[in-house]
Amino acid sequence: MNPIFADLPTTVFEVMSALARDTGAVNLGQGFPDDPGPADVRARAAEAVVSGWNQYPPMMGLPELRQAVAAHYARWQGLEVDPASEVMITSGATEALAGALMALIEPGDEVVLFEPMYDAYLPLVRRAGGVPRFVTLTPPHFRLTEAALAAAFTPRTRVVLLNNPLNPTATVFPEADLALLAEFCRRFDVVALCDEVWEHVVFDGHRHRPLMALPGMRERTVKVGSAGKIFSLTGWKVGFVLAAPGLMRGLAKAHQFLTFTTPPNLQAAVAYGLAKDDAYFEGMRADFARARDRFASGLARLGFSVLPSAGTYFLNIDIAPLGEHDDVAFCDRLVRRHGVAAIPVSAFYAHRPVRHVVRFCFAKRDDTLDAALARLSGLA
Ligand code: PMP
Ligand code: GLN
Repeated sequence: MNPIFADLPTTVFEVMSALARDTGAVNLGQGFPDDPGPADVRARAAEAVVSGWNQYPPMMGLPELRQAVAAHYARWQGLEVDPASEVMITSGATEALAGALMALIEPGDEVVLFEPMYDAYLPLVRRAGGVPRFVTLTPPHFRLTEAALAAAFTPRTRVVLLNNPLNPTATVFPEADLALLAEFCRRFDVVALCDEVWEHVVFDGHRHRPLMALPGMRERTVKVGSAGKIFSLTGWKVGFVLAAPGLMRGLAKAHQFLTFTTPPNLQAAVAYGLAKDDAYFEGMRADFARARDRFASGLARLGFSVLPSAGTYFLNIDIAPLGEHDDVAFCDRLVRRHGVAAIPVSAFYAHRPVRHVVRFCFAKRDDTLDAALARLSGLA
């Protein structure tokens, strides 16, 4: 069934942020950092506004940004893409995902989704006429299994949508899982739509491995990234799409009629930012890792059961050991009575089979994290 958009609920992020504002809670719900983003990148955008980058830029993106994106992925992920035919700039990863689903799916095509999944996926798949087939991932490790993939893929599967690293579980899929998925994509002749917006936010020696780099995936992967996550500028909404020319032709048409272009001043600033030296990206990761460790050890000291966080700026707790089996009710109490906003992970499942995991965003200043910990004290 194709739900009418107006009947869909307001996203849990918006609801929780509004509750946090109304109650004066520390907001560790919606994922956005306290950090204002690199000053030089913001200055570049301001300069570009003042000095005249304010008319429609080329539809596929500023050439300098498309080149910077190609160079960035060659440097960090060993991908060789042609900026002229294999890179497109979109208004955030969200537009890229919506456009890709519009371009790739014919009504009735099946789309494999891994739940928990980012909240935009399912409504967009359904609106494009896709039929979702779910693979349910479960705590604590949220790994892919051959049996689960075999149950989800069919001859009608057209697209599989993978988010790696995975929001909300903070999972970085190991090479073995990616290889398994790639094998299914090849066997069933499926396009992989890969949401890799968290690719730079990985910890503990992990290095992001793009699905596109696996054997046989170069021609059948649409890779999506976002400057919002790379530079802690979530409101900028500058996204990148990488795809082989045959796929890109359809994606470009979707972009043409969805937004056509993306603000040129922000594009110019992102082009500058992507060329920053390795130290910037390593430093960002190190800062997030420090915040993760501070918050994780604080939660553990208070007696909470903390799940692993290998990537993204999210950390989850298992509330079952507290005798809690309804994450929505738990988060509601947390924000109203204890003054901390968090996200119930069941909101990321289509059928809520898992209701005992709660997500916190730790991309915050130390004093914000410490204030949240003080309020959580005595709950576990
Ligand atoms: N996909 C995932 C998995 C995300 O976490 C987010 C943002 N939180 C997005 C897409 C949206 O990215 P953008 O803001 O660039 O549209
Ligand atoms: N990606 C952010 C999160 O997961 C929120 C984005 C949004 O508010 N739509 O918290």
